[in-house]
Amino acid sequence: MYAEEVAAMAGRIRDEDIALVRERAAIADVISEVVTLKSAGGGNLKGLCPFHDEKSPSFNVSPARNVFYCFGCGVGGDAIKFLMDAEHLSFVESVERLAARAGIQLRYVEDDRSAPRPRPQQGQRQRLVAAHAAAVEFYRAQLTTAGARPAREFLAGRGFDRAAAERYGCGFAPDGWDLLTKHLRQQGFSHDELVTAGLSRPARSGSLIDRFRRRLMWPIRDITGDVIGFGARKLFDDDDGPKYLNTPETPIYKKSHVLYGIDQAKREIAKQGKVVVVEGYTDVMACHLADVPTAVATCGTAFGGDHISVLRRVLFDSDERAGEIIFTFDGDAAGQKAALRAFEDDQRFVGRTFIAVSPDNMDPCELRLAKGDLAVRDLVARREPLVDFALRHVINRFDLDTVDGRVEAMRRAAPLVAKIKDREKRPEYVRKLAGDLGMEIEPVQRAVLAAAHGQPAAGGSASASAPTRRGPAAPSVDSPRSMVEREALKLALQEPVLAGPMFDAVEAADYQHPVHVAVRAAVAAAGGASGATGGAVWIEQVRDACDDLAAQALVGELAVEPLRIDGEPDPRYVSVTMARLQWSSVTGRIRDLKSKIQRINPVSNKDEYFALFGELLSLEQHARALREQAAGGL
Ligand SMILES: [Zn+2]
Repeated sequence: MYAEEVAAMAGRIRDEDIALVRERAAIADVISEVVTLKSAGGGNLKGLCPFHDEKSPSFNVSPARNVFYCFGCGVGGDAIKFLMDAEHLSFVESVERLAARAGIQLRYVEDDRSAPRPRPQQGQRQRLVAAHAAAVEFYRAQLTTAGARPAREFLAGRGFDRAAAERYGCGFAPDGWDLLTKHLRQQGFSHDELVTAGLSRPARSGSLIDRFRRRLMWPIRDITGDVIGFGARKLFDDDDGPKYLNTPETPIYKKSHVLYGIDQAKREIAKQGKVVVVEGYTDVMACHLADVPTAVATCGTAFGGDHISVLRRVLFDSDERAGEIIFTFDGDAAGQKAALRAFEDDQRFVGRTFIAVSPDNMDPCELRLAKGDLAVRDLVARREPLVDFALRHVINRFDLDTVDGRVEAMRRAAPLVAKIKDREKRPEYVRKLAGDLGMEIEPVQRAVLAAAHGQPAAGGSASASAPTRRGPAAPSVDSPRSMVEREALKLALQEPVLAGPMFDAVEAADYQHPVHVAVRAAVAAAGGASGATGGAVWIEQVRDACDDLAAQALVGELAVEPLRIDGEPDPRYVSVTMARLQWSSVTGRIRDLKSKIQRINPVSNKDEYFALFGELLSLEQHARALREQAAGGL
């Protein structure tokens, strides 16, 4: 038998204890450490899945049954399984963690001999976390030594007293090559563990040395409070390293996910439905101490998509409840770039993103020091929507006293307004932009519309010129026929109250493109557009009613694609659109009918001939009426 197997057997937890852990584990509490959960009715809870990226919650928890299940990715199980998947713990580690939480004393299966029982095997993550916990204590103790005086002075100079330093676990990496390394080696951590953890690194000589030396240390915790890395600030002039040094990428430290302060801030973020993103460790401390408890900071990297995913799960950001993200910036250039990037990163986030720029270009830490706690709270309170901020930033680059400057500013700003997915807000921003530029609303509106349709702002005649094709082949997506079908479906999805009755009156047979036919059928299967009140629920109903994935995907697309009309749609627009749709269909049927009539002998098949001829006459009449209706508003 292999030694590992012996150890594993000896470390085996008794079955009845595992059953007890399973029964007593409060699964909602365990999962709430990572995911903000809200009531899903019937005593169940739901949140955004930590195992796949999603924007509306499909991750369900049943506290009564002590299980979780995600309808999005199919992951499910009990609390033990959750910890194994979410925190990459082994089975034994998960059971031990849960037992500790629930106050259950575990008993291990022991062999008969009275040999000392080996410690249960620990997984890598737990070892690396344990090494960090020991390092925190080491650095902390060093902060009181004589050599750490510059570190204490730095903290005091930033307005942080001893209690604040203790609350955030601040420490000092002493002047020495391998003081921490030796300390941790004595505690039983291996050479490899210290290197993997990023706490030590091999020197040229081959021996192990400390990664951080002569620096002020901030422990960086994950969302559950485990220390997974450090941020280290330079204190001495002869230290030629960067101002801030962070733990490198390790199995437990991924800088694209890490948010400093999230462990302390998460409950307030969930409660208040907002988060304040600041730039540094001292800013997080200053904000929390100034009673802005929702502050977090990225560590040595720009705010990105993975951070959004982490925050979204805490904010419970979905269609049902919008979360607010507030970025604070002290300067101009770097912060603005980060803010403007939000436009590219995630469209649905734009409407919920705010910018708070300190008037004197001070960061929250400096602001608190110079003007007190109230000024920090005021900075956050005076936030402005990202869109306003971005527009101002673009417009300010041009000389609005000249015609050329105003036109150029309009061209650059129009795409930003066109990107606002919240269609109700768009006219408001068109007016605002026109006002800021000192221009009429009309040209600004045209520029925004052109930008929304991916046309250059100057071009006015980029209408599609693809030939209309008939027959069973699907028309190209940008053919006029296909475009009008899309428009009709967009009206049904986006404006069912306005367009419902007219939309429902036109049959699926009048649509040509197979995917459009499928979406039209799904609208009918969802009960028709006439009774719908619109919004996310209606879109979901139609999506659910779709027979295939292509149609489902198209519903999502059409639900957000801007309508091809300046301003808000009205009944006339709906009528024109539906008439154009039917007219295409009717003229196609007329052509088919004429061809069929030509092939019939009017003498031998007199009855059929007259029946078809009568149908042709009524269709032509119908087509004339539709053409008039279609021309009505154009
Ligand atoms: Zn999932």
